[in-house]
Amino acid sequence: MLKLKFEDLNLSEEMNKAIADMGFEEASPIQSQAIPFVLEGRDVIGQAQTGTGKTAAFGIPILEMVDAQSKKLQAVVLCPTRELAIQVAEEMKRLSKYKRGVEILPIYGGQPIDRQIKALRKGIQIIIGTPGRVMDHMRRKTLNMETVKMIILDEADEMLDMGFREDIETILEKVPEERQTILFSATIAKEIMELTKKYQNNPQIVKVVHKELTVPSIEQVYFEVKEKMKAEILCRLIDMYNPKLSLVFCNTKKRVDDLVSALQIRGFFADSLHGDLKQNQRDKVMSKFRNGTIDILVATDVAARGIDVDDVEAVFNYDIPQDEEYYVHRIGRTGRAGRTGRAFTFVVGKEFYKLRDIQRYTKTKIILQAVPSISDVQELKTSLFLEKVKDTIEKGHLSEYLHAVERLMEEDYTTLDIAAALLKMATTVENKQEEIEENYGDTGAAPGMVRLFINIGRNHRVGAKDIVGSIAGNTGISGNLIGSIDIYDKYTFVEVPKEHAKEVLMSMKNNTIKGSKVNIEPANRK
Ligand code: AMP
Repeated sequence: MLKLKFEDLNLSEEMNKAIADMGFEEASPIQSQAIPFVLEGRDVIGQAQTGTGKTAAFGIPILEMVDAQSKKLQAVVLCPTRELAIQVAEEMKRLSKYKRGVEILPIYGGQPIDRQIKALRKGIQIIIGTPGRVMDHMRRKTLNMETVKMIILDEADEMLDMGFREDIETILEKVPEERQTILFSATIAKEIMELTKKYQNNPQIVKVVHKELTVPSIEQVYFEVKEKMKAEILCRLIDMYNPKLSLVFCNTKKRVDDLVSALQIRGFFADSLHGDLKQNQRDKVMSKFRNGTIDILVATDVAARGIDVDDVEAVFNYDIPQDEEYYVHRIGRTGRAGRTGRAFTFVVGKEFYKLRDIQRYTKTKIILQAVPSISDVQELKTSLFLEKVKDTIEKGHLSEYLHAVERLMEEDYTTLDIAAALLKMATTVENKQEEIEENYGDTGAAPGMVRLFINIGRNHRVGAKDIVGSIAGNTGISGNLIGSIDIYDKYTFVEVPKEHAKEVLMSMKNNTIKGSKVNIEPANRK
């Protein structure tokens, strides 16, 4: 499928800068196809669903074509719902970050019309609105359609389904005929064709064709996670399954860099692969990954294209992919050459809908799995290790080691003590959690708990409820697991179960409670 680099689209410097800030590496297929035609002034029918980058496919050329010197209304985007109107306006505002003097306004029902009228008086060049509210403003003469040069029908099939046909036609009749009309729709049914025949002029059709895809038979699971917990959970899963090589996907370059730093701080051997790397840097990272110097490669979709490494045993969708097709490409990197493979996808809140689309598209079932707790990880590691121990005993050739054990027994240690100590040493080598826990020392807490210091107290208007609410809300730990709370004027002590202390420390750091920035650390030894 045609995909272009944004540089090939001859966009302005301001636009390329905003696109880079948003972390987009290359134009999506619908953008690659639609943007050149819209920039030429052609009418376009775009067949594409949400998630394909369709908003930027019309948003970028609109912003490039609008005259910032003129304060007149120049482009109108019609959307079926208020949520979509807001979303489109937000995406276009981000794209217009460096475009001086371009004003974008969403107008939709449910918001006080007076406020919209006031905003419109400022001189808005682009409005994004629902048909009903746009008509309302036209009737009140607070919107003058005579100067409009571009009109976009976004999710046209949805708008027709919702009964907006008459409104849309009324609006189109009021826009001068020598305009550019662009229509985006997931489906192109008869009714849509009727609209385009009547209101478009020799439209160019562009679409994202979904080819039939085959997903390799690998285990696919997903986890419902909070954004803040993603790095921690990724580490637990890697600890637990111990894949030979792991490939982790993020949606933007910045997220790749942030995650690599988080992993490196935790002592993992990870590196990044994204579009900013020069060819020789890329080659270096890839050869480190191939020979196992690093065992976690964090990448964007674009950069990972063409990666061909056989030993990838796990693929992590740290960010759920923007496009269903990306999902297939991503997970196709594991389970190669008859090896076992696992694919893990992190889903945050509403992204569940994207997951549903992926399942529909790939015709596979992705199974929900509970997020493993730290003790699950430890348990699994211990049992995997004990399996290895049994295997080693079976294989024999242990006599010289037996002598060493005997020497230790002469010093009055039992075989059981020795075995337990060796097991602890072997399974805690990689167990950073335990090391950290041991570092808490005596915080003066009840047994099994860690006492934490928080730099916020009564003077910040917080009560015990706020502290419990914030910890429970940010970590998913149930409020009744939280122990005693002592609130002083300037600070607070709170006790949390030892096994959750790290999670609380990590997810509360730099958060705010009632508007005050949190600093949190283990309480000092008494
Ligand atoms: P849409 O299909 O417009 O709803 O876009 C879906 C998501 O993809 C939005 O979060 C966009 O910001 C993002 N997006 C759009 N274009 C690109 C691109 N070229 N590369 C990466 N992400 C993109």
